[in-house]
Amino acid sequence: MSFENRTYTADVTPGESATIAGWVHEVRDLGGIAFLIVRDKTGKLQVKIEKDEMDEELVESALDVARESVVSFTGDVKEEPRAPTDVELVPEEFELVAPADTELPLDPSGKVDAELPTRLDNRTLDLRKPEVKAIFEIRAEVLRAAREYFRSVGCTEINTPKIVATGTEGGTELFPISYFGEEAFMNQSPQLFKQLMAGSGLERVFEIGPIFRAEEHNTPRHLNEATSIDFEGTFCDHEDAMDVVEGIVVAAYEAVNENCAEQLEALDMADAFEVPEGGFPRLTYEEALDRINATGELDERLVYGDDLSTEAERALGEEIGSHYFIMDWPSEIKPFYIKDYDDDAETSTGFDLMHPSMELVSGGQREHRYDPLVEGFEQQGLDPDEFEYYTKMFKYGMPPHAGWGLGAERLVMTMLGLGNIREAVLFPRDRQRLSP
Ligand code: ATP
Ligand code: MG
Repeated sequence: MSFENRTYTADVTPGESATIAGWVHEVRDLGGIAFLIVRDKTGKLQVKIEKDEMDEELVESALDVARESVVSFTGDVKEEPRAPTDVELVPEEFELVAPADTELPLDPSGKVDAELPTRLDNRTLDLRKPEVKAIFEIRAEVLRAAREYFRSVGCTEINTPKIVATGTEGGTELFPISYFGEEAFMNQSPQLFKQLMAGSGLERVFEIGPIFRAEEHNTPRHLNEATSIDFEGTFCDHEDAMDVVEGIVVAAYEAVNENCAEQLEALDMADAFEVPEGGFPRLTYEEALDRINATGELDERLVYGDDLSTEAERALGEEIGSHYFIMDWPSEIKPFYIKDYDDDAETSTGFDLMHPSMELVSGGQREHRYDPLVEGFEQQGLDPDEFEYYTKMFKYGMPPHAGWGLGAERLVMTMLGLGNIREAVLFPRDRQRLSP
């Protein structure tokens, strides 16, 4: 059988003949009549088998297939008010395209629940479930909308190396690899490369790519391989960069709201989905501390210089109830490549964008002056010589620039209220998982 004329189940027209192809979702044998429900990426269609009236071989072979086998039927499409989609196909031809074992490790019809590890071990079967497939269709829409927004604000998409000689912030959280007998690493962030490209003729760049973090955390919001949406732009300060990330987040929600009605329905979120309003509150670090302390939720009051723990972030998020920024962090708890205010060396231009439940973004204006940058490496205990490929470009005309990194999985996770970041990755990498 040729699939050239295949019609998706959602596109069949009553009164016409059609060839459909997909998975056997269910077989219902009622005696003289049987129904096969065939599922494809667009939905499901009922195929009616009238045992006495149809070709004996067709009836026998069609009813012999195991669930989740791949089949194809050709026949007439008829209106049928009793069918789940008001139409059914009365077959004239049948083909078993690819059989499935009768024992499945996972039930794609969702009647039997499976634990996350089982689902992740069997992602192919897992994504046959509409509510799981929907997450990845929405993720694709989020990335599409991000790309479109970046282009609308004059950014060029770049791809930087993931195999590197040195990390962004030192060696502690890097995965070492062997590179032709030399030690190399998987890059933890495109930070240094995107800065080098902001200072190039491209000026405004973005990258959507993997970042590798070797930390041994085991939390619902950390992966060891994540996808980072990165921005870097010249003649930008940190507040301009905050405008861009706010624009991306709102654009991503709007795109999903407009283009993913079916997916939100599959996730049972059609009514609950809300596009956040722009103009996210911009708190200073000190305001954030005061508000956290005022909630009385923490055992110990936070003092200036403390980083925000998960509990602190949660208390503040609950209090604010929407996306918000925290800016003006103490310099000592932000990375050295982030610029301090010119009139206040104790305060950094670094910022975080927070969802009420967790951090989504870190960014800031960058140190673009050669001498303070090299000093920063030294103070951090890093050898500036190892980073010479980077620092030397700051001697050849590096304009002021700013940027940020946004975790794509955290964006999808918080958008859809997923309880675990692994739900937003096809094949997550964590302490326990390296395969598939
Ligand atoms: P956290 O403090 O939440 O661990 P971070 O401050 O270490 O995050 P950054 O280095 O600032 O993370 O990275 C920028 C963004 O990239 C984060 O805000 C987050 O959205 C995403 N990100 C970073 N590390 C991870 C990770 N291990 N898993 C998933 N996303 C991550
Ligand atoms: Mg951060």
